[in-house]
Amino acid sequence: MIFIGNHISVSKGYHAMGRHELALGGNTFAFFPRNPRGGKSKAVPDEDITALRSFLADNSFGKMVVHGAYAMNVCASKGNIRANSREMLRDDLLRLQKLPGNYYNFHPGCHVGQGAETGVCLIAEALAAVIDKVESESGKPLQNRILLETMTGKGSEIGGSFEEIKEIIERTAALFGESVRTKLGVCLDTCHVWDAGYDIQNDADGVLRKFDSIIGLDDLCAVHLNDSKNERGSRKDRHEKLGQGFIGAEALKNIVLHPLLQNRPFILETPNDDDGYKSEIQTVKEWMFNSKYE
Ligand code: FE
Ligand code: FE
Ligand code: ZN
Repeated sequence: MIFIGNHISVSKGYHAMGRHELALGGNTFAFFPRNPRGGKSKAVPDEDITALRSFLADNSFGKMVVHGAYAMNVCASKGNIRANSREMLRDDLLRLQKLPGNYYNFHPGCHVGQGAETGVCLIAEALAAVIDKVESESGKPLQNRILLETMTGKGSEIGGSFEEIKEIIERTAALFGESVRTKLGVCLDTCHVWDAGYDIQNDADGVLRKFDSIIGLDDLCAVHLNDSKNERGSRKDRHEKLGQGFIGAEALKNIVLHPLLQNRPFILETPNDDDGYKSEIQTVKEWMFNSKYE
Protein backbone atom coordinates (compact mmCIF):
# COMPACT_ATOMS: atom_id res chain seq x y z
CA MET A 1 0.00 0.00 0.00
CA ILE A 2 1.09 3.57 -0.56
CA PHE A 3 -0.21 6.86 0.68
CA ILE A 4 -1.08 9.48 -1.92
CA GLY A 5 -1.82 13.18 -1.66
CA ASN A 6 -0.74 16.64 -2.73
CA HIS A 7 0.23 20.08 -1.43
CA ILE A 8 -2.53 21.75 0.58
CA SER A 9 -2.70 25.42 1.55
CA VAL A 10 -2.37 26.17 5.26
CA SER A 11 -4.46 29.35 4.94
CA LYS A 12 -7.60 27.92 6.58
CA GLY A 13 -5.70 26.27 9.41
CA TYR A 14 -4.41 22.79 10.20
CA HIS A 15 -7.59 20.76 10.71
CA ALA A 16 -8.98 22.26 7.48
CA MET A 17 -6.00 20.85 5.56
CA GLY A 18 -6.90 17.31 6.57
CA ARG A 19 -10.53 17.78 5.53
CA HIS A 20 -9.44 19.33 2.23
CA GLU A 21 -7.15 16.40 1.40
CA LEU A 22 -9.81 13.85 2.32
CA ALA A 23 -12.24 15.60 -0.04
CA LEU A 24 -9.69 15.20 -2.85
CA GLY A 25 -9.46 11.47 -2.13
CA GLY A 26 -5.97 11.52 -0.62
CA ASN A 27 -4.60 9.99 2.58
CA THR A 28 -1.45 12.04 3.07
CA PHE A 29 -0.48 15.60 2.15
CA ALA A 30 2.21 18.24 2.16
CA PHE A 31 2.03 21.84 3.28
CA PHE A 32 4.26 24.86 3.78
CA PRO A 33 4.13 25.94 7.43
CA ARG A 34 5.04 29.47 6.26
CA ASN A 35 5.05 31.36 2.99
CA PRO A 36 7.34 29.33 0.70
CA ARG A 37 9.14 32.54 -0.23
CA GLY A 38 9.97 33.11 3.44
CA GLY A 39 8.61 35.33 6.18
CA LYS A 40 7.01 34.56 9.50
CA SER A 41 4.58 31.73 10.06
CA LYS A 42 1.25 32.36 11.74
CA ALA A 43 0.70 31.12 15.28
CA VAL A 44 -1.41 27.96 15.25
CA PRO A 45 -3.79 27.34 18.17
CA ASP A 46 -3.09 24.10 20.03
CA GLU A 47 -6.74 23.01 19.55
CA ASP A 48 -6.32 23.20 15.77
CA ILE A 49 -3.23 20.99 15.94
CA THR A 50 -4.96 18.49 18.22
CA ALA A 51 -7.99 18.45 15.90
CA LEU A 52 -5.77 17.67 12.90
CA ARG A 53 -3.99 14.90 14.80
CA SER A 54 -7.20 13.10 15.66
CA PHE A 55 -8.59 13.68 12.16
CA LEU A 56 -5.52 12.06 10.59
CA ALA A 57 -5.69 9.11 12.98
CA ASP A 58 -9.46 8.65 12.49
CA ASN A 59 -9.05 8.63 8.70
CA SER A 60 -5.98 6.36 8.64
CA PHE A 61 -3.77 8.96 6.98
CA GLY A 62 -0.11 8.22 6.35
CA LYS A 63 2.67 10.52 7.48
CA MET A 64 2.51 14.11 6.27
CA VAL A 65 5.48 15.49 4.36
CA VAL A 66 5.75 19.10 5.53
CA HIS A 67 7.83 21.27 3.17
CA GLY A 68 10.37 23.85 4.32
CA ALA A 69 10.25 27.27 2.61
CA TYR A 70 12.04 27.58 -0.74
CA ALA A 71 13.65 30.74 0.59
CA MET A 72 15.63 28.70 3.10
CA ASN A 73 19.27 28.27 2.13
CA VAL A 74 21.33 27.10 5.08
CA CYS A 75 24.49 27.03 2.92
CA ALA A 76 24.12 30.50 1.38
CA SER A 77 27.29 32.54 0.89
CA LYS A 78 25.86 35.47 2.86
CA GLY A 79 25.94 35.07 6.62
CA ASN A 80 22.62 36.85 7.18
CA ILE A 81 20.81 34.52 4.75
CA ARG A 82 22.34 31.49 6.46
CA ALA A 83 21.29 32.78 9.88
CA ASN A 84 17.79 33.58 8.68
CA SER A 85 17.47 30.14 7.09
CA ARG A 86 18.56 28.37 10.26
CA GLU A 87 16.00 30.40 12.18
CA MET A 88 13.20 29.30 9.79
CA LEU A 89 14.35 25.69 10.12
CA ARG A 90 14.42 25.94 13.91
CA ASP A 91 11.02 27.63 14.08
CA ASP A 92 9.36 25.10 11.72
CA LEU A 93 10.78 22.09 13.56
CA LEU A 94 9.94 23.50 16.98
CA ARG A 95 6.29 23.97 15.98
CA LEU A 96 6.15 20.51 14.50
CA GLN A 97 7.19 19.00 17.82
CA LYS A 98 3.43 19.14 18.51
CA LEU A 99 2.68 17.09 15.38
CA PRO A 100 4.88 14.06 16.01
CA GLY A 101 5.54 11.13 13.70
CA ASN A 102 5.56 13.00 10.39
CA TYR A 103 8.25 14.20 7.98
CA TYR A 104 9.77 17.61 7.38
CA ASN A 105 11.33 17.87 3.93
CA PHE A 106 13.58 20.67 2.71
CA HIS A 107 15.85 21.57 -0.20
CA PRO A 108 19.45 21.11 0.98
CA GLY A 109 20.43 24.48 -0.52
CA CYS A 110 22.65 26.26 -3.05
CA HIS A 111 26.33 26.85 -2.36
CA VAL A 112 26.37 30.01 -4.54
CA GLY A 113 29.94 29.81 -5.73
CA GLN A 114 31.48 28.46 -2.52
CA GLY A 115 31.78 24.96 -3.96
CA ALA A 116 29.84 21.80 -3.15
CA GLU A 117 32.25 20.75 -0.41
CA THR A 118 31.70 23.97 1.56
CA GLY A 119 27.96 23.77 0.86
CA VAL A 120 27.72 20.26 2.25
CA CYS A 121 29.66 21.29 5.39
CA LEU A 122 27.40 24.30 6.01
CA ILE A 123 24.26 22.17 5.63
CA ALA A 124 25.61 19.60 8.09
CA GLU A 125 26.55 22.31 10.59
CA ALA A 126 23.09 23.86 10.33
CA LEU A 127 21.32 20.51 10.80
CA ALA A 128 23.43 19.52 13.80
CA ALA A 129 22.99 22.92 15.46
CA VAL A 130 19.26 23.23 14.76
CA ILE A 131 18.37 19.70 15.87
CA ASP A 132 20.29 20.27 19.10
CA LYS A 133 18.48 23.57 19.69
CA VAL A 134 15.00 22.18 18.94
CA GLU A 135 15.57 19.25 21.28
CA SER A 136 16.78 21.40 24.14
CA GLU A 137 14.11 24.10 23.64
CA SER A 138 11.24 21.60 23.51
CA GLY A 139 12.76 19.26 26.09
CA LYS A 140 12.00 16.33 23.77
CA PRO A 141 13.89 14.38 21.12
CA LEU A 142 13.12 15.53 17.58
CA GLN A 143 9.58 14.29 16.87
CA ASN A 144 9.67 14.37 13.06
CA ARG A 145 12.27 12.97 10.72
CA ILE A 146 13.98 15.65 8.58
CA LEU A 147 14.16 14.68 4.90
CA LEU A 148 16.73 15.99 2.44
CA GLU A 149 15.09 16.32 -0.97
CA THR A 150 16.89 14.97 -4.04
CA MET A 151 17.45 17.93 -6.38
CA THR A 152 18.17 18.39 -10.09
CA GLY A 153 21.62 19.91 -9.42
CA LYS A 154 20.80 23.01 -11.47
CA GLY A 155 23.04 26.03 -10.83
CA SER A 156 24.85 25.54 -7.53
CA GLU A 157 22.15 23.31 -6.03
CA ILE A 158 23.36 20.67 -3.55
CA GLY A 159 21.65 17.28 -3.61
CA GLY A 160 21.74 16.55 -7.36
CA SER A 161 23.42 13.22 -6.66
CA PHE A 162 22.83 10.48 -4.10
CA GLU A 163 26.50 10.80 -3.13
CA GLU A 164 26.04 14.44 -2.09
CA ILE A 165 23.02 13.60 0.06
CA LYS A 166 24.98 10.76 1.65
CA GLU A 167 27.82 13.18 2.39
CA ILE A 168 25.44 15.56 4.21
CA ILE A 169 24.18 12.70 6.39
CA GLU A 170 27.73 11.51 7.15
CA ARG A 171 28.96 14.96 8.09
CA THR A 172 25.94 15.66 10.25
CA ALA A 173 26.55 12.37 12.06
CA ALA A 174 30.19 13.35 12.59
CA LEU A 175 29.09 16.62 14.22
CA PHE A 176 25.97 15.57 16.11
CA GLY A 177 26.70 11.91 16.78
CA GLU A 178 25.47 8.66 15.26
CA SER A 179 22.02 9.06 16.80
CA VAL A 180 21.24 11.70 14.17
CA ARG A 181 20.89 9.00 11.51
CA THR A 182 17.41 8.05 12.69
CA LYS A 183 16.43 11.74 12.65
CA LEU A 184 17.40 12.19 8.98
CA GLY A 185 16.11 10.68 5.76
CA VAL A 186 15.55 11.40 2.08
CA CYS A 187 12.59 12.46 -0.05
CA LEU A 188 13.02 11.27 -3.63
CA ASP A 189 11.50 13.67 -6.17
CA THR A 190 10.88 11.80 -9.45
CA CYS A 191 11.12 14.95 -11.60
CA HIS A 192 14.31 16.05 -9.87
CA VAL A 193 16.18 12.72 -10.13
CA TRP A 194 15.14 12.44 -13.79
CA ASP A 195 16.31 15.98 -14.52
CA ALA A 196 19.52 15.15 -12.63
CA GLY A 197 20.11 12.27 -15.07
CA TYR A 198 18.88 9.15 -13.24
CA ASP A 199 17.00 6.89 -15.65
CA ILE A 200 13.87 6.05 -13.65
CA GLN A 201 12.07 5.46 -16.96
CA ASN A 202 14.03 2.48 -18.26
CA ASP A 203 15.86 1.42 -15.14
CA ALA A 204 13.98 2.26 -11.95
CA ASP A 205 15.41 -0.91 -10.40
CA GLY A 206 18.94 0.18 -11.15
CA VAL A 207 18.34 3.68 -9.75
CA LEU A 208 16.81 2.29 -6.56
CA ARG A 209 19.65 -0.23 -6.19
CA LYS A 210 22.09 2.62 -6.59
CA PHE A 211 20.22 4.60 -3.93
CA ASP A 212 20.35 1.53 -1.70
CA SER A 213 24.08 1.03 -2.11
CA ILE A 214 24.91 4.70 -1.48
CA ILE A 215 22.36 5.83 1.13
CA GLY A 216 20.19 2.80 1.95
CA LEU A 217 16.53 2.38 1.02
CA ASP A 218 15.47 2.39 4.69
CA ASP A 219 16.29 6.09 4.63
CA LEU A 220 14.15 6.74 1.54
CA CYS A 221 11.12 7.92 3.50
CA ALA A 222 8.91 9.74 1.00
CA VAL A 223 8.44 10.35 -2.73
CA HIS A 224 7.46 13.51 -4.62
CA LEU A 225 5.54 12.10 -7.58
CA ASN A 226 5.95 14.38 -10.60
CA ASP A 227 6.38 14.07 -14.32
CA SER A 228 8.96 16.34 -15.98
CA LYS A 229 8.61 18.91 -18.76
CA ASN A 230 12.14 18.14 -19.89
CA GLU A 231 14.43 15.38 -21.05
CA ARG A 232 16.52 13.32 -18.70
CA GLY A 233 19.59 15.17 -17.47
CA SER A 234 18.21 18.60 -18.43
CA ARG A 235 18.63 19.99 -14.86
CA LYS A 236 15.66 22.28 -15.47
CA ASP A 237 13.26 21.39 -12.62
CA ARG A 238 9.93 22.00 -14.35
CA HIS A 239 7.24 19.65 -13.05
CA GLU A 240 4.58 18.24 -15.37
CA LYS A 241 1.25 16.46 -14.85
CA LEU A 242 1.45 12.67 -14.55
CA GLY A 243 1.74 11.07 -17.97
CA GLN A 244 2.11 14.37 -19.82
CA GLY A 245 5.85 14.73 -19.54
CA PHE A 246 9.08 13.00 -20.51
CA ILE A 247 8.99 10.40 -17.73
CA GLY A 248 5.56 9.14 -18.72
CA ALA A 249 2.69 7.31 -17.04
CA GLU A 250 4.14 3.80 -17.39
CA ALA A 251 7.37 4.69 -15.62
CA LEU A 252 5.56 6.63 -12.87
CA LYS A 253 3.16 3.75 -12.36
CA ASN A 254 6.13 1.43 -12.05
CA ILE A 255 7.55 3.69 -9.31
CA VAL A 256 4.25 3.83 -7.45
CA LEU A 257 3.91 0.03 -7.53
CA HIS A 258 7.58 -0.70 -6.89
CA PRO A 259 7.90 -3.30 -4.12
CA LEU A 260 10.86 -1.41 -2.61
CA LEU A 261 8.77 1.75 -2.20
CA GLN A 262 5.68 0.43 -0.45
CA ASN A 263 4.17 2.21 2.56
CA ARG A 264 5.79 5.53 1.67
CA PRO A 265 3.83 8.77 1.34
CA PHE A 266 3.70 9.90 -2.32
CA ILE A 267 3.12 13.62 -2.77
CA LEU A 268 1.97 15.15 -6.07
CA GLU A 269 3.62 18.47 -6.92
CA THR A 270 2.21 18.61 -10.42
CA PRO A 271 0.84 21.84 -11.97
CA ASN A 272 -2.84 21.25 -11.07
CA ASP A 273 -5.86 22.80 -9.41
CA ASP A 274 -8.06 20.83 -6.99
CA ASP A 275 -9.90 19.01 -9.80
CA GLY A 276 -6.60 18.06 -11.41
CA TYR A 277 -5.26 16.66 -8.13
CA LYS A 278 -8.48 14.78 -7.52
CA SER A 279 -8.17 13.04 -10.85
CA GLU A 280 -4.44 12.29 -10.43
CA ILE A 281 -5.10 10.82 -6.97
CA GLN A 282 -7.81 8.70 -8.57
CA THR A 283 -5.40 7.57 -11.31
CA VAL A 284 -2.79 6.52 -8.77
CA LYS A 285 -5.40 4.63 -6.74
CA GLU A 286 -6.49 2.81 -9.89
CA TRP A 287 -2.89 1.81 -10.61
CA MET A 288 -2.69 0.35 -7.13
CA PHE A 289 -6.08 -1.34 -7.25
CA ASN A 290 -5.61 -2.88 -10.69
CA SER A 291 -2.15 -4.16 -9.84
CA LYS A 292 -3.66 -6.60 -7.35
CA TYR A 293 -5.33 -8.42 -10.23
CA GLU A 294 -2.51 -8.34 -12.75
FE1 FE B 1 10.66 20.49 -2.93
FE1 FE C 1 9.75 18.11 -4.82
ZN1 ZN D 1 10.99 20.79 -8.23
